[in-house]
Amino acid sequence: MRTGHLTHEEMQDWVMSDGQGADEIGAHLSHCTACQEELAAYKLMLPMLETMPAAAFDFDVAEMVLANLPERQVGVSVGMVMVYLMVGAGVLAGLGALYVMTRYLAFNLVAGIGAIMIISVLGFQIREMVKQYQRQLRLLEHC
Ligand SMILES: [Zn+2]
Repeated sequence: MRTGHLTHEEMQDWVMSDGQGADEIGAHLSHCTACQEELAAYKLMLPMLETMPAAAFDFDVAEMVLANLPERQVGVSVGMVMVYLMVGAGVLAGLGALYVMTRYLAFNLVAGIGAIMIISVLGFQIREMVKQYQRQLRLLEHC
């Protein structure tokens, strides 16, 4: 036996299922005038909701959003120019070192290979340094 009134969900389910709900709801409705009145209101409301046209904006939402977006930053910042200069200088230094080493150490294959390995490691470390610098720059730009 049910003790309280019907919930809104129970009433909506009852109306939408044309009264084919749980027996206890029907039993409560048969004697509770408060719930009968509320149920009558739902019976009036639901068909109106079904026939209502879908809501539509009378303005262009996409255009408004795009107009309010901050403009994308175009161009290269000073920090990025410095990074590219550093990379360029690193590459030139590496090539210069390679030239000097192959020219004066060409007779010694082991030394040449060793030099190339050292330059490779240095290049890799410079690349990592630049990457870390770029990450820090991005963090700074977002502060
Ligand atoms: Zn009731």
